[in-house]
Amino acid sequence: MDCIFCKIVSGEIPSVKLYEDDRVLAFMDINPLNDGHLLIIPKAHAATIHEITEADFLAVMSATRKLAAAVKKALNPEGINLLQLNGKAANQVVPHLHVHIVPRWSGDGVTVSQWELVPGDMEKIKGIADQIRKDLK
Ligand code: AMP
Ligand code: ZN
Repeated sequence: MDCIFCKIVSGEIPSVKLYEDDRVLAFMDINPLNDGHLLIIPKAHAATIHEITEADFLAVMSATRKLAAAVKKALNPEGINLLQLNGKAANQVVPHLHVHIVPRWSGDGVTVSQWELVPGDMEKIKGIADQIRKDLK
């Protein structure tokens, strides 16, 4: 398959590997937002949260927790952002699911987590919650 992260899994494209197990691979992001920016992916191709199996997603999240602990020890960031983008509208560029770990220091200038808090219309919020709830299985 013509997927850059599948090629990283198979070794066709080199990567700076950090961790791997049966289901998961973690490697350094080559366009880091900050020191220590890394990615965790399932080895089996899945484009987004909607395609990945529950077992693979849990394995990715478990590895994310392990990697975050190592980053904390190694680099001592003041905070960590986890990012996981699904779909072009959400700015996903590589269509193979991945979690970003972005270590953060105050004043680092990284803008991924800055948004203005604007109160919403509570009636609209409750209506949307009803819509979501009825599709929860
Ligand atoms: P996104 O799909 O927007 O969540 O982000 C894709 C991420 O993959 C970006 O942060 C890229 O820097 C990163 N990336 C793309 N190609 C490679 C590669 N060959 N090795 C490591 N990271 C990569
Ligand atoms: Zn893939």
